[in-house]
Amino acid sequence: MDYKPYITIINDYPEKGVKFKDITTLMQNGEVYKQAINDIVRYAKDKQVDLIVGPEARGFIFGCPVAYELGVGFAPVRKAGKLPREVVSVDYGLEYGKGVLTMHKDAIKPGQRVLITDDLLATGGTIEATIKLVESLGGIVAGIAFLIELAYLKGRGKLDGYDVFVLTKYE
Ligand code: 5GP
Repeated sequence: MDYKPYITIINDYPEKGVKFKDITTLMQNGEVYKQAINDIVRYAKDKQVDLIVGPEARGFIFGCPVAYELGVGFAPVRKAGKLPREVVSVDYGLEYGKGVLTMHKDAIKPGQRVLITDDLLATGGTIEATIKLVESLGGIVAGIAFLIELAYLKGRGKLDGYDVFVLTKYE
């Protein structure tokens, strides 16, 4: 299905020159949101996934319903200071800004097959950091699913060798 009619483009948000892709208009439509989740579930079905991992906050919006549907767990990736127990951390850069992402140390058992989900691939900094966290805990990245790829920001260059699935792409 074509998801673009349900995604709203906001010019100059959050900074001048950025064409922000607002997915809340897609999520507000129950049928379309469900279809997006079903598409990711179909992609994940033959990957023997043990766990879904998604970065805050929009990675949760797609990752949690996929985890529920597959009957597997969900482990959150969060910004520094948000998780209450012992964490692993990694520095990352993104389209506008910098930060530290963390995961609980016991979130993944070595050898578990992980599907990473996020709403959007831009420069790839967030997902590159998420992959580092998963692999540092011994997880195997079985696939990475996005609703949107901004192909002009070339984030895919950071995902060489990984199985990447996107529902819609902006060139
Ligand atoms: P990256 O690290 O690939 O540069 O940026 C991707 C991250 O930033 C994702 O977690 C995503 O939620 C957020 N992001 C960056 N640009 C946009 C945008 O235009 N729309 C939305 N919904 N999220 C964005």
